[in-house]
Amino acid sequence: MKSLNILLTSVALACAAPALAAAQQDTVDVTVPTQLPRTAIPHHYSVTVTPHAERLAFDGTVRIDLDVVQPTRQLVLNAADISFASVAIRPAKGGSALAARVSVDDDAQTATLTFPRSLAKGAYRLDIRYSGKINTQANGLFALDYKNAEGKSARSLFTQFEAADARRFVPSWDEPDYKATWDLAARVPASEMAVSNMPRASTKTLAGGLKEVRFQTTPTMSSYLLFFASGDFGRVTKQVGDREVGIVMTRGNESKAHYALDAEAQILPYYDEYFGTPYPLPKLDNVAGPGQSQFFGAMENWGAIFTFEYALLNDPAITSEAGKQSIFAVEAHEMAHQWFGDLVTMAWWDDLWLNEGFASWMETKATKHFHPDWEADIDRVGSREGAMGLDSLNSTHPVVQQVRTVEQANQAFDAISYSKGESVISMLEDFAGPDVWRDGIRRYVAAHKYRNTRTGDLWSAVEAAGAKGLTTIANDFTNQPGIPLISVGQSQCVGGATQVSLTQGQFSADRMQEVAARPQSWHVPVKASAGGATVQVVTTGPATQLSVPGCGPLLINPGQYGYYRTLYTPQQVQALAARLPQLAGMDQYGLIANGMALSLTGYQPMQPGLDLLDAMPANGSAKVLQRVVGRWEDLYDQLDGNPAAQAAISRRVIRSYGPRLAQLGFSPREGEPAVDAILRPTLISLLGKYQDPTVLAEASRLFAAWRTDANAIPGSLKSTWLGVIARNADAATWDALHERARATTGTVERTSLYQLLGRARDEALARRALELALTDEPGKTISSGIMTSVAAGHPRLAIDFVLSHLAQVNQLIDISGRSRFMQRLASSSRDPALIPILEAYARANLGESDRKPIQQTVDRIRSESAQTQRIQAETSAWLQAHPQG
Ligand SMILES: [Zn+2]
Repeated sequence: MKSLNILLTSVALACAAPALAAAQQDTVDVTVPTQLPRTAIPHHYSVTVTPHAERLAFDGTVRIDLDVVQPTRQLVLNAADISFASVAIRPAKGGSALAARVSVDDDAQTATLTFPRSLAKGAYRLDIRYSGKINTQANGLFALDYKNAEGKSARSLFTQFEAADARRFVPSWDEPDYKATWDLAARVPASEMAVSNMPRASTKTLAGGLKEVRFQTTPTMSSYLLFFASGDFGRVTKQVGDREVGIVMTRGNESKAHYALDAEAQILPYYDEYFGTPYPLPKLDNVAGPGQSQFFGAMENWGAIFTFEYALLNDPAITSEAGKQSIFAVEAHEMAHQWFGDLVTMAWWDDLWLNEGFASWMETKATKHFHPDWEADIDRVGSREGAMGLDSLNSTHPVVQQVRTVEQANQAFDAISYSKGESVISMLEDFAGPDVWRDGIRRYVAAHKYRNTRTGDLWSAVEAAGAKGLTTIANDFTNQPGIPLISVGQSQCVGGATQVSLTQGQFSADRMQEVAARPQSWHVPVKASAGGATVQVVTTGPATQLSVPGCGPLLINPGQYGYYRTLYTPQQVQALAARLPQLAGMDQYGLIANGMALSLTGYQPMQPGLDLLDAMPANGSAKVLQRVVGRWEDLYDQLDGNPAAQAAISRRVIRSYGPRLAQLGFSPREGEPAVDAILRPTLISLLGKYQDPTVLAEASRLFAAWRTDANAIPGSLKSTWLGVIARNADAATWDALHERARATTGTVERTSLYQLLGRARDEALARRALELALTDEPGKTISSGIMTSVAAGHPRLAIDFVLSHLAQVNQLIDISGRSRFMQRLASSSRDPALIPILEAYARANLGESDRKPIQQTVDRIRSESAQTQRIQAETSAWLQAHPQG
């Protein structure tokens, strides 16, 4: 995925029943945590659903072929928001049926089926008739409403099951290690297109304008990967060897799907080759949904990926260059899951990172392969920095973590699983070498296909392929939380080589003294260069002596594969700052990000960090600049309450980067490099935020023209320019934007316009946006995005508003995203006054074991606000000492 408290207990059964066939033992590991008693193992589901879209309900039947593995009168399976009409079981070989009494536990999301007498061990067939709900947020079977090609209201249906919502669609053993095959049939309006994991097997006309579509049997797979959609769809396809790839979208949007279709056709053979096991299904669709979620953007259902329209369709009216690149990246991510996640699946949510870290890493690798000019390596460093932000706090968690509740499984979709996972894999691939690493992956996929694994299975496979020593490093970085700190001693030039000693400690944003006294230790592969060849050493804690060829500035972590922070001496920083313009782009960015992180957390004064930031040449790599200017923006926000220093920063940024924007021009240029097309909107937004008169004048000119001609602003810059307008809007401007949002029918553009209404700097307008979000006008899945948008500029206002309308707001967010919505709203705040408010919210609304996102936010605000005074004083002094930008 691209992102009810039930207690899950570890049930260790004595042993699997000897009658169990070998294949059955293989698919269920009795040491894997489970909520369900292991009395039965399902092998095949036959599901038929009849949606009633207009009344948001559906009827279903399911026949489950299963083995009872120990004599029992009760079977417990998962079900949520399901009403049972009848339940009966009969021996597979034939015999009379036993009806069951059903009791439902809403909190545990289980149903207990009690039979009149005990079931002996053996094969059975369980038949259930039931009904369920169609949701209006992306959980279980859900509806998305939109305006169709004729501008009329339309409704289409989709499913979203990860982590634990297949149980809202079908009573099932809804845990990843209960793999089974699935037959799905659906009775839908004859005019609609129904889509599932597999191609259609048959279509039958039914009375009442309906048809029954049956799909072919899936391979053995986990329940969270089942998919169904139905609506007024179009589909475009391409043949890749003997497989068909397709994009499914609401009818009328076919022309916007070709970009994604081409990417899909390009990536599939590349992955076939990389993984060494070809994609095993006859087709791979990617289904676009008109809406959004606060929890995820896309989901890797096997053979039928689901992606919200904004992340899949390329619409010249609104899609930016960054948006286009993201379409490729999201597809590369979800397609990597077809192997890592779908073909081979983590046994339990503890190892979710195996899915997400790997797919994130593969996404970058595929992007680099097909689009080297996009410089995806810089994004890899950005991803590492994002992970370190979370991983430097006391409330972080290991990559491999204990997951015991559904809520904890939902919360596991965070920057640690995705971005630290990706960073650690990048480091390990670099350590193993790309060929050995790939051979290890091929062994792993071949050995575990159609089965479940744990993290250790991956390390064993890569070690077996030749990566000696990898497991020790991998275990250190995945089983313990936190970030190593490599402190560099004074260096000396001896006989043309740099002699230096490295000492390993631990980096922490909120427990610096504590971890300095008792640091964790890791096996850290550290690289260094000083103008000659790069050397590598694995440090473990005590000082390590290193001899680095060459006597140029000493650079630790060249290539930025290492997951650690580096604390240089002031002299070393000065030498690196002087050399910065000549370094590779990713090292420029890595050094600046590392330097600023150490300065902002108090490991060093602000000066070394600011010197590095200031050393970035304004004519440097567009991709690096796009990242680096964000550091100035963060700093600007840190200086809140200090208008003189903020003004000095905006003057400096405008003076440094205004000429670069002038050079790029305000409009896209034919044939320009993709990185320029990405830097342009970044600079327009930033300079617009700092109220650069040239940018504001152009924004006003474009806005006036756009009010009479919708094509007056190039589509790829539309949300950028309108963003500048929205931020600085007065009431009349805001009303004009609102009017346009209301009149727009395309889901992506409409969503974008509504979210812009939340950007207003003016507090009264921000409040109007919040009130608008609670009305029916924007649409069920757009409202939460408006609130998030307000929170970026007015966090306290948005949080107070949400808290006073919590029940209403909860209806506008996926169940799986609710506990993290508050974290998102608070993400731009450093106000300690928020801490008691957030803590009270957590106590009132979240189970004790489910409060991690709030704790992370509290830790972050506490650690950042503790540094504010020092940061402001030192930055002001630096700005005065460096008046020229
Ligand atoms: Zn994913």
